[in-house]
Amino acid sequence: MTTIKFKKFDIEAYKPGKSSIRKLKKIIKLSANESALGTSARVKKIISKKNLNFFRYPDGKSKKLRNEISKKFDCDREKIICGAGSDEVIQMLCQLFLKPKDEAIVPQYSFLMYRIYAKIVGANVIFAKEKKLKVSVSEILKKVSKKTKIVFIANPNNPTGTYLTKFELIELRKKLRKNILLVVDDAYAEYMKNKDYKSGLDLFKKKENVFILRTFSKIYGLSSLRIGWGYGSRRVINALNIIKPPFNVNGVAQKAAVESLKDNKFISRSIKHNIFYATKIKDFLNNYGISSNKVSANFLLLNFAKCKLKAKYFYENLKKKGIILRSTEDGYKIKNMLRLSIGSKKENLRFMKVTESIFKK
Ligand SMILES: *Cc1c(COP(=O)(O)O)cnc(C)c1O
Repeated sequence: MTTIKFKKFDIEAYKPGKSSIRKLKKIIKLSANESALGTSARVKKIISKKNLNFFRYPDGKSKKLRNEISKKFDCDREKIICGAGSDEVIQMLCQLFLKPKDEAIVPQYSFLMYRIYAKIVGANVIFAKEKKLKVSVSEILKKVSKKTKIVFIANPNNPTGTYLTKFELIELRKKLRKNILLVVDDAYAEYMKNKDYKSGLDLFKKKENVFILRTFSKIYGLSSLRIGWGYGSRRVINALNIIKPPFNVNGVAQKAAVESLKDNKFISRSIKHNIFYATKIKDFLNNYGISSNKVSANFLLLNFAKCKLKAKYFYENLKKKGIILRSTEDGYKIKNMLRLSIGSKKENLRFMKVTESIFKK
């Protein structure tokens, strides 16, 4: 053969939540679970400073940021690794733990990046069934084999919005073989005020065989800067530092992240805003036969099973008015549902108004 060759992957590429509509200038994007209140003013001030330099390489170890994280979350800075989004940390974990033919267990409707990175390194992805769109501890345990190396869960999960309670998470770790790494993705932990919930970090800070993922893309409002972090045993963190690209997190992102952790007012405002509007929208949609998960993170999974309209019809009609939700058909394979991110006050009110008009037709 005279042509170049490369590996073939049996992977459906990740499709992000849509962010534009043809011919429409003003859109309302409620498709990617980004911060409803944007970025905090304190962070904006820091990153618009005139003396900000770009010509030096960033600190490859994100030292200042790891210090700030360890203070804020009362954890060991030597057990933290920063990534270009938690995404990159997932990728590094797969590179570190998975050989071809090893098995990674992911719940049926879990966040897509786990299966994508696991497959890229040649591992087999084993799907554990869910019960009523919720991760099932017993179904995960059923899938464990000699080849199982990692179990991934997001808690609460995206896109279902359901979560394992504190006791279920502890039970999962207890019943899972000790030499299997449990990865708990806490992407939405800050939003969670439910009494039966505890974050992976709070529960498993000291566990050698649990790895925690955190991100600055959601409540901290830094999606575009690509920054997140992982927390694991020193042994795992040291090994990850060997395979980590040397300057993976850019300097602006590091500065912004440090500042975002300090702005407690912005974070508490975001939490209040989210609970208020998620509850309001959930109740509002219920009137139209659209049900959803119990309020948890900054999004709702809308179920159209008992609604006179189909999810797809609703989606298309919102789109005509410039409002974008996340289809859960591609990738997640969840039919007749849509994921809705909680937006700003203005966006939420507009969403409700347009919804009313769609049902009046
Ligand atoms: C949004 C999200 C992330 C964040 O990914 P980044 O790469 O940090 O932007 C991670 N996990 C889950 C479950 C998410 O929904």
